[in-house]
Amino acid sequence: MKFVAALLASVALASTPLVAAAPRQADTVDPTLPTQLPRTAIPRHYAISVTPHAERLSFDGDVAIDLEVVKPTGELVLNAADLELASATLRPQNGGAALPARISLDPKGETATLTFARTVAPGAYRLAIRYSGQIHTQANGLFALDYKNPAGAERRAIFTQFEPADARRFFPGWDEPDYKATFDLAARVPAGEMAVSNMPAASSREIGGGLKEVRFQPTPVMSSYLLFFGSGDFGRITKMAGKTEVGIVMGRGNEAKARTALDAEAQILPYYNEYFGTPYPLPKLDNVAGPGQSQFFSAMENWGAIFTFERVLLDDPAVTTESERQAIFGVEAHEMAHQWFGDLVTMAWWDDLWLNEGFASWMARKATKHFHPDWGEEFGAVGSREGAMGQDALSTTHPIVQKVRTVEQANQAFDSITYSKGESVLNMLEGYAGADVWQRGIQAYIRAHAYRNTRTDDLWRAVEAAGARGLTQIAHDFTLQPGVPLIRVGPASCAAGQSRVVLTQDEFSSDRKPGSFAPLTWHVPVKLSVVGGKPVTALTSGRETQVTVPGCGPLLANVGQTGYYRTLYPAAAAEQLRANFTRIDPLDEYGLVHDQLELSEAGYQPMAIGLDLVAAIPVPARPELLSLGNSYWAGLYKEFDEDAATQRLIATLIEQRYAPVLAKIGLNAAPNELPTVTTFRPQLIQSLGEVGDARVTAEARRIFAALQSDPDAVAGGLKQTWLSLIATNADAATWDQLHAMARKASSATERQNLYSLLGRTKDEALAKRALELALTDEPGRTVSAGMITAVAGRHPDLALDFVLSRWSEVEKFVDLSAKSRFIGRIASGSHDAATIGKLEAYAKGNISATDRKPIDQAINVIRVRLGNEARIKSEVAAWLRSHAEEPAPAPGSPPAPSQPERG
Ligand SMILES: [Zn+2]
Repeated sequence: MKFVAALLASVALASTPLVAAAPRQADTVDPTLPTQLPRTAIPRHYAISVTPHAERLSFDGDVAIDLEVVKPTGELVLNAADLELASATLRPQNGGAALPARISLDPKGETATLTFARTVAPGAYRLAIRYSGQIHTQANGLFALDYKNPAGAERRAIFTQFEPADARRFFPGWDEPDYKATFDLAARVPAGEMAVSNMPAASSREIGGGLKEVRFQPTPVMSSYLLFFGSGDFGRITKMAGKTEVGIVMGRGNEAKARTALDAEAQILPYYNEYFGTPYPLPKLDNVAGPGQSQFFSAMENWGAIFTFERVLLDDPAVTTESERQAIFGVEAHEMAHQWFGDLVTMAWWDDLWLNEGFASWMARKATKHFHPDWGEEFGAVGSREGAMGQDALSTTHPIVQKVRTVEQANQAFDSITYSKGESVLNMLEGYAGADVWQRGIQAYIRAHAYRNTRTDDLWRAVEAAGARGLTQIAHDFTLQPGVPLIRVGPASCAAGQSRVVLTQDEFSSDRKPGSFAPLTWHVPVKLSVVGGKPVTALTSGRETQVTVPGCGPLLANVGQTGYYRTLYPAAAAEQLRANFTRIDPLDEYGLVHDQLELSEAGYQPMAIGLDLVAAIPVPARPELLSLGNSYWAGLYKEFDEDAATQRLIATLIEQRYAPVLAKIGLNAAPNELPTVTTFRPQLIQSLGEVGDARVTAEARRIFAALQSDPDAVAGGLKQTWLSLIATNADAATWDQLHAMARKASSATERQNLYSLLGRTKDEALAKRALELALTDEPGRTVSAGMITAVAGRHPDLALDFVLSRWSEVEKFVDLSAKSRFIGRIASGSHDAATIGKLEAYAKGNISATDRKPIDQAINVIRVRLGNEARIKSEVAAWLRSHAEEPAPAPGSPPAPSQPERG
């Protein structure tokens, strides 16, 4: 805390460097980390000067690195990728002759080796390198985004994206998170542009030739992946939040659309200052909007200069939906949490990436819940847990803390285990520790490790020291082991007003049969109650745990839904829960339905148990619950694409249950309606439209006709919804009209939406046209991959065949850091066994054995789907037949026998 206070004082002086390059001992860089660089030198300070040539997609650079050589060496090895190094010299800091270096580059290892004529003795040196590099067209290193400004003029802006390992595309250096240093950045940019970096500009002067040189104040000590630079025809709006200037930087002319984001930023910062107990240490915090998109990230937490793709930063009444408006807050809250968790305190190595991402996800939800209690965040947390368990129940999963040994493995670490399981486990641990103890632990952790690097155990130590005894044991079980615990609830007996029950621990798996593998064991805090009663928490550790619960009646586990495990009830107990469904708290109803459906789909119990529970969701109910039921039936409807009779049964069920809901909430938002109703409406319209509901289909046609003459014929928040439905069902003429709208769209976000919609079509011939269109220059460099992904939503095999056969053309539209993840994602929806062979062949020919996780995961998902498909479909079809409303008997035929109603 004191250190930071001193820091703030120096900020106030402005001319003093923010952090005096505090001398660090050589051993503060941990020699046991799995570095890819030999630990012969430690960088302390970088002075980087760049001149971008945006029009020809290249730049020139100079870097002077103050470093300490820690052992005698004849060479220095540092990171460099896509850079050409013209010269390098090493000069002792205490005077003495400069040593020129012989330079050799290793493009595969992404390193440069500088060899000197004689051995360099330990000591302080300045390494000066003159180099040049490329401006990329995907978000890796320094990259360009082209767009039309509000007046319709073509513009090109440049930005940087470095995490995890692309700073080496911007300057040669020690590009690993543990090599923290200070950075001075200077850039020569067109005089009319605005240049942005982590720190405010210290000076700006015209240098002739239409250029100016902007020098930024030195950064605090930080990891290389957090440096940011952007330049373009920008506008900036600001506010003060306490002592910090918060700002949004956006394409000039879009200022009004940035207000929502600026207000959120100003709201969140003081909340975090208080929660973390250490105030935000930089003088300003910008969030920089970039037009375009990436398939794999929406925003990046560069310290003091967050980057966010504008569809999740700008609020445009003409296109932004309510969910997207909420995402503006959620994504900012996530990136701002990183300003502490990630930027101020950084994981020592990518093995602990989850410390950044799990924590930021968890913290963002906490902030969102605090400021927007009516957005249903607690339901979102359950959804996030379910997403993580989906990946975690497969044998291709990995522990939260994992071994990362290659750059590609670091790229792949950005997945739902790292984010969502991380978030869910933190949620569980906060519940175990208690919110106050947990917060005190977090504050101590931040104080103790500010400006330094940590490993996961540093966090557990801090929270235990704050009072959470026994937490480390639970935390280890859930972060060092993969997988999902399964709690089997035994039959309960009731005596003297208490229920006694035995909980048996097992492991839930989607791809291995119970009994065919040795289950892992965990310390699992299980919160249990009789429905409506007082809960107790039992820490299960061994195989069996006896628990006594106050009250008698149906038993419910995971009360409050903070536990990371599945619960399997005896069939009779599950039936009791169904019969008492409406007495259960809505959040627990939501968790219970998810849980039981997954257990049914994985074959632990009949499908009927899961389906009975979905059918038990009453109408009316909270929108979150209605949405869960609706999306489950809509998903099944797609699964039965080749079984018209069953599909008809599902369509009838969807119409009967949900058309009245839509009629009640209306086609358009009512004033003062709940935000959860507003976010549910688009899903409702889409699902009813897909099953051919007459009212929705007619409205879609009417709106599309009206949009041809008036782009504002439907309110912005619902425009995408209606267009999406139209795109799904489009014939060739409609598809052409949508294409014309895409070409004409003026805002970057709307353009992007429309091009992606062209890929959503059910019609295979039109899907092929969308794929071909994606490879032309028309959609824009960062939009094409999204079109291909959209096609893969309904035609995964078509999209995969296209991608594999045209890879040399597709490749340039995909982030450098995301190629195998892209292919895995495209293919994972496939229902075709042949796809597995294609993926195997691709992996063999293109990916090293250590880096094939996303492909193996996709293969596994397809295998599990094919293995379960016949069983699930026959049980679902039987359930639907037995629950279908009987059709009116045709004249003259005998009345159909009546079926007992179960739910
Ligand atoms: Zn993050």
